Amino acid sequence: MQNAYRAVPSVDKLLGQQGIKRLEGEHSRPAVLQLVRSYLDEVRSAIDRGAACPALEDMVRELSRRGEELGRSSLQRVINASGVVLHTNLGRAPLSRDAIAAMRAAAQGYTNLELDLESGKRSSRQVHVESLLCRLTTAEAALAVNNNAAAVLLALAALARGKEVIVSRGQAVEIGGGFRIPEVMRQSGARLVEVGTTNRTYLSDYEQAITPRTAALLRVHSSNFRVVGFTASPALAELVRLGNERGIPVLDDLGSGCLLDTARFGLEHEPTVQESMADGAALAFLSGDKLLGGPQAGIIAGRSVLVEKARRHPLARAVRIDKVALAGLAATLLHYARGEAESKVPVWQMISLGPDDIKARAEAWARALPASAGAEVVAGESVAGGGSLPGGTLPTWLVAVRLGRPGFKDLPQRLRRPRLGAAPILGRVERNMLLLDPRTVLTDEDDALLESLREALAEREDAAGKEV
Ligand SMILES: *Cc1c(COP(=O)(O)O)cnc(C)c1O
Repeated sequence: MQNAYRAVPSVDKLLGQQGIKRLEGEHSRPAVLQLVRSYLDEVRSAIDRGAACPALEDMVRELSRRGEELGRSSLQRVINASGVVLHTNLGRAPLSRDAIAAMRAAAQGYTNLELDLESGKRSSRQVHVESLLCRLTTAEAALAVNNNAAAVLLALAALARGKEVIVSRGQAVEIGGGFRIPEVMRQSGARLVEVGTTNRTYLSDYEQAITPRTAALLRVHSSNFRVVGFTASPALAELVRLGNERGIPVLDDLGSGCLLDTARFGLEHEPTVQESMADGAALAFLSGDKLLGGPQAGIIAGRSVLVEKARRHPLARAVRIDKVALAGLAATLLHYARGEAESKVPVWQMISLGPDDIKARAEAWARALPASAGAEVVAGESVAGGGSLPGGTLPTWLVAVRLGRPGFKDLPQRLRRPRLGAAPILGRVERNMLLLDPRTVLTDEDDALLESLREALAEREDAAGKEV
């Protein structure tokens, strides 16, 4: 081990290497110095754990790679071949051309964000989406905020602070990424009153829990799980009937906020915002970037007096929607208003793709790969994901590559970390096979996907050559 430590080069020696000197042309000297120092710390800790000191040329290569990364954002485009349409870790909905153009325009210059061009007076950014939202959802009023978690928090704070909100025990859920109904409730200052049991809750459970302190009944859509078997929960319309009798508003956290009927695409029916309004919910909460297919946003839609309370609450400013997202949201909503969502909004384009089209694409991919990859086209399933349609799947065709053979084991990892400048690819690994689903790969990404795949497979040939 002593020897390993002695083999560690000095900072100056590394700085003197050709590949590192070049970095100083691109970054400041302190930045390069810090890069080298922290790398050497890592090398020493690795030696502590019993590793050998890397060769000087490997160190230089690793430092140049890190140096290049210094100059670029770690956030980059990824090709989603996982078949999960709304993949939260991959940023959920890809946006339509119109939405992207609108966001670009809003980002590039000034806009009439809060200026009424007619009168020259100050106005609200909400005017750009509110009437569209009302038209599409049949709500009286609507407010767009940063995301749906913010929509729920803001509405509860505005309507139920210091009061009680009744929720079925089966709906006091965690949506993921730290959004837990009981905790959001606590942060809003409302007190959660859980009723019923995990699997069965009756209208009478709500009824018995109503007190003079009850501010609302809250329904939460079980976005990412399903309770099956011996279950019961009152329909939204029944809750509304009870709420109306007692003068208590019913709030409906829809999660996805679907405007189209998912059953048309062979999926289970996801509750729509229109249904929520027709059933009499006082407010519905939904995301902009789930099945709506727009940018990250949250929407509060429903009765004017209640939306107004949310609008005037001090938290509204803290969770307000930014101008770029607002522009994208408006453009996305316009697709629905024009009746063209299915053909223009990428999420719906992906969901409505027929198996034959997908199969032809999968076959073309498999043909474009070297025979040694042994790629097969197999039947499989895509999922909606992103807190919508739990358990719902769409039949699809996949390109499958077996990982059990020499040199294939780390193919998924190589695809996630391709050479600099190439887009990482995320597939799915099941039964020791890498599965690539064309459904979620944008049509203009085919070439990039195939090029990265071929490169990763060629690397494998090199690796396999070394193994023998
Ligand atoms: C996804 C989801 C949320 C959170 O929405 P974000 O837009 O991610 O903040 C809240 N409630 C339900 C039911 C959800 O499905």
